[in-house]
Amino acid sequence: MTIDASHDPALQSWVESANAADTDFPIQNLPFGRFRPAGHDEWRIGVAIGDQVLDLRATGLTDHTDMNRLMALAPDERRALRRSLSAGLQWGSAQEKAWRAALFVASSVELGLPCRIGDYTDFYVGIHHATTVGTLFRPDNPLLPNYKWVPIGYHGRASTILASGQPFTRPRGQLKAADAAPRLALTQRLDFELELGLFIGRGNRLGEAIPITSAEEHLFGIALFNDWSARDMQAWEYQPLGPFLSKNFASTVSPWIVTMEALAPFRRPFVRPEGDPQPLPYLDSEANRHAGAIDIELEVRLQSRAMRESGIPAHCISRSNFADAAYWTAAQLVAHHTVNGCALTSGDLFGSGTLSGPRPDQAGSLLELTQAGKQTITLPGGEVRSFLEDGDSIALVGNCSRAGFRRIGFGRCEATVEPSPAMG
Ligand code: CA
Repeated sequence: MTIDASHDPALQSWVESANAADTDFPIQNLPFGRFRPAGHDEWRIGVAIGDQVLDLRATGLTDHTDMNRLMALAPDERRALRRSLSAGLQWGSAQEKAWRAALFVASSVELGLPCRIGDYTDFYVGIHHATTVGTLFRPDNPLLPNYKWVPIGYHGRASTILASGQPFTRPRGQLKAADAAPRLALTQRLDFELELGLFIGRGNRLGEAIPITSAEEHLFGIALFNDWSARDMQAWEYQPLGPFLSKNFASTVSPWIVTMEALAPFRRPFVRPEGDPQPLPYLDSEANRHAGAIDIELEVRLQSRAMRESGIPAHCISRSNFADAAYWTAAQLVAHHTVNGCALTSGDLFGSGTLSGPRPDQAGSLLELTQAGKQTITLPGGEVRSFLEDGDSIALVGNCSRAGFRRIGFGRCEATVEPSPAMG
């Protein structure tokens, strides 16, 4: 991951809003997503710049109209595209006049899923989350012995991954109280999970493992990801094969994929706590030890329907950081996923797992924040929550900052819980 002229913090854009100190999308970011202007059916590839979206095809830099194909570009082609976008959007660029016609106001277009999502794998890299949740479900045996050796994951469902802003309804399923027979009912313990979504760029051939030394060449970038969960359904169904209907009713992903290139200045060493086993050789490399972790600040905001109706802004209920929360790195996940020969494809999505920090107020789910409903959170306006109510919306936001570099952000990953329709 090299730092080049496209990361220069002094760069300014002729798109004025990209120079605002608090924008998520300065010229140093250049994330990719899909959009369509009002009245158009076809998705187009866009690049977020300030409060605008640049129509990539109209810049003449690429013939690609399919995001998944763009994501599968060779890494040097990807880096060349980033450099061309950076040059064209810079103050004083000769392309300004032509590219102005390729700009759309972001709030005026529809932002969709950033690509076609092939397969979805949900990892479990948040060790503080795994320990706290393990304590709630299995007080005598919180962290299972495989956790520090195997990047734990399972195959999720791609068809119910929703674009940010798309509402979903409260799911129903089997619930079982300790002293009663199971019954079919609406979940009473609806929760969010603060995660990141890692998108695969180039795939690999079936049977060919991706070594950790080239794992990051197969990652296109990262978006915000909320893996909604029904905790009462989960507790009853999850053994022995893991969660099923408690997770696959909806997950929400943010519209913009921040590329691995844009994240280059925000890397951190990967360190195992003292006394923990070192990763097996196929999960270890010098580059991974030196800079395998990524410093991403994350925040969860809740706004109830009553808050929305009385103009009370969304309330921050948790703050966390990817590098502090994660026991495994992105490169380790790619190497592990393919070590058995499993083929990945452009547009495959890895959920990181819930990214809770070490402190209780850094928890990435209500399950942890409320100790499985034993405590409540008080919202501005006086409402209390142990789990989510109908009309609640959850927004995830994230950003990277480091001295000597321009702050970049991830935009928003947001959705509202709607009441379930009556059963027919
Ligand atoms: Ca998850």
